[in-house]
Amino acid sequence: MKGCIDSMPGNQEIMPNSLPFNTTIITSLFTPLSSEQEPKSDVPGFWTILQGASLVVAVDSSEQVLLVGDLPASLEPETEPLMIGLWQGKPLRCARIALDAALPEGYETLPFQGPDMRLDNTLATIAGRAAQIMHWERRSRHCSHCGSMMSRIPASWGKHCQSCGDDHFPHIHPCIIVLVRRGEDMLLIRNAAWNPGRFSLVAGFVDFGESLEECVQREVREEAGIEVTNIRYVASQCWPFPSQVMIGFLADYAGGEVTPDGVEVVEAHWFHEGVLPLSPGGKRSIARWILDTFGKNQATST
Ligand SMILES: [Zn+2]
Repeated sequence: MKGCIDSMPGNQEIMPNSLPFNTTIITSLFTPLSSEQEPKSDVPGFWTILQGASLVVAVDSSEQVLLVGDLPASLEPETEPLMIGLWQGKPLRCARIALDAALPEGYETLPFQGPDMRLDNTLATIAGRAAQIMHWERRSRHCSHCGSMMSRIPASWGKHCQSCGDDHFPHIHPCIIVLVRRGEDMLLIRNAAWNPGRFSLVAGFVDFGESLEECVQREVREEAGIEVTNIRYVASQCWPFPSQVMIGFLADYAGGEVTPDGVEVVEAHWFHEGVLPLSPGGKRSIARWILDTFGKNQATST
């Protein structure tokens, strides 16, 4: 029966752990290290150079690869290069260049966020990881308790405050995302920030005191005005924009009339599984994966 976790199709091109931005997709290439473990060699290594939500790549390369070796002067990072691990056995450092920095001839940027799918999923995944780590580094310079400068806890991304003694660890925010089904119909919503005609799944941040299932029930109730039952987990995905983990569920309709909240959600409708509308987030998102896996593969995205 379509729509049950027990009947997940066996021929999916993307299995949950190998969704873009999850570690599995780069396991054969990347070994994570903290910056405390900077190799002492002179090996120049690879670069993940980000400009906004795009990765800098060489135009004339026959395949998409990370930059390696000395950077051209005009790609001078605006942030201190940060060692994040080994890429194909060589040091991998990441840094950002200014949003308005002009790229030298022979280089271009390819987005790792959004519907543009030109960047290889492997490189999108390491770019997302670098973005998430640099976001934490920017947000963890000072102690959120006393305001003093913090130092790194060895062999981790955690920080220690020398002044008040607090330890701080990376902030990764859990969000649920859920496909609600009523027979062959699926509930999709349009966020106020999305263009007309674009719909996706109900999603939201976990609140104080909530289990994941309770969060699913509340978000569906708040965004669409209905009740759900038979909530079951299907997959999760790192979503480094800037630092979420998306936890995917299926749920069945249990009662109520679909009514958008009119603020965060401006439209909410039942769609037949054969006529799904455009969905935001592109093919890299768990929303798309859930729709493709449990929505008869009829969703279109750009
Ligand atoms: Zn402190």
